[in-house]
Amino acid sequence: MTKFLPVVEKFHSLQGEGFHSGKSAFFIRLAGCEVGCSWCDTKNSWDSSKFPLFSIDTLLKEITAAKIKGAAFIVLTGGEPLHHNLDDFCSIILKKNKTNKNNPIKIHIETSGVSDISGSFDWITLSPKRHNPPKDYFLCRSDEIKIVINDKKDIEFASDVRRKIIDIEQKSSINEKKFFVQPAWNSKKGFALAIEFAKKNPDWSLSLQTHKYLSIQ
Ligand code: SF4
Repeated sequence: MTKFLPVVEKFHSLQGEGFHSGKSAFFIRLAGCEVGCSWCDTKNSWDSSKFPLFSIDTLLKEITAAKIKGAAFIVLTGGEPLHHNLDDFCSIILKKNKTNKNNPIKIHIETSGVSDISGSFDWITLSPKRHNPPKDYFLCRSDEIKIVINDKKDIEFASDVRRKIIDIEQKSSINEKKFFVQPAWNSKKGFALAIEFAKKNPDWSLSLQTHKYLSIQ
C-alpha cells in the first residue's frame, strides 16, 4: 500500500516534449531516482528524503482542480516515478473515473523503464538509458520511445533500441509506436546529431524541450 508519495513539484502547464507536445497537462514530479544519468537536468530530485510526502487523496483533489481548468491528462514524471509502487495512485483515479466515464482522468507516465511496472497508464513514454537499459516489458508496452542524444553512441543506442523492439514484437505493433530523438539541453553536438539522424531516418522524429525555449515550467 503506497498512500503517500514524495513530490518535488506539481504544476499545470503544457507538455513540452514528444507526441503530446503543446497539450495542457498537470505534472507531478515524484522524487527519487537511482538511474544516475550524468547529464540529468533534475538532479535535485534524486534524493526523495528531501521532499514532502503528499497523500494520494490530496493529489487527486489537485488533479481534479487542474482538469476543471483544462488539463487533458496528468503526467507522472521524476525522478524515476516507477521507483514507487503506483498501484494505489492509479486505482484511486480509475475508481474516480468510473463515476465520470465520459470525461475520465488520463494518466501518462515518463519512465526510464528500469523498475518493475506498477499502476496502469493511458500513455507510457519510455526514455531508455544506455548505461541502465530498460526492462523488455517497457520496450513492448510503451507508446513512445524518447532517446536523449548527447553523443554518437546515443544515436547507435537509438537504432539498437528500435531493432530490439522489432525483434521482440516481430513488427506486430511497431508502426503504432512513436520514436523520438531529443537533444540533451544545451548540447550543440546532441542537436546536430539528432537533427541529422531524424533527417535520414523517417521512422524517427525530433523532439525538442519546447517548454524550456518558452521559459515555462
Ligand atoms: S532517469 Fe531521469 S531523473 Fe533519473 S537520472 Fe536519468 S534523467 Fe535524471
